[in-house]
Amino acid sequence: MPKTFEEFPGVEWVEGAGEFIKIDEDKCNGCASCVKVCLAGCYGISKKKARIKSLEKCMECAACWFVCTEGAIDFSWPPGGTGYRSDWG
Ligand code: SF4
Ligand code: SF4
Repeated sequence: MPKTFEEFPGVEWVEGAGEFIKIDEDKCNGCASCVKVCLAGCYGISKKKARIKSLEKCMECAACWFVCTEGAIDFSWPPGGTGYRSDWG
């Protein structure tokens, strides 16, 4: 059964997307751009490094990957395009 969240009307998440974002701690400089850009609140900073708090609400927008100037975020869309579905395509 797909999950929905009140703060994202028109979007539903499909289970089983797996781990599709990884952070390379050696490259991360702790700038927090990923934290600021992520509307789903997936990131946090701990000990001057980005951490994934939870990918539960991730919309697979790849904005975090795009803003990371250090190339510290390894992003790959979940196999089969699972993760979330929206009403607008
Ligand atoms: S944007 Fe990149 S370098 Fe900056 S905190 Fe996030 S992962 Fe680290
Ligand atoms: S892909 Fe988008 S929603 Fe998912 S963690 Fe990155 S910025 Fe957040």
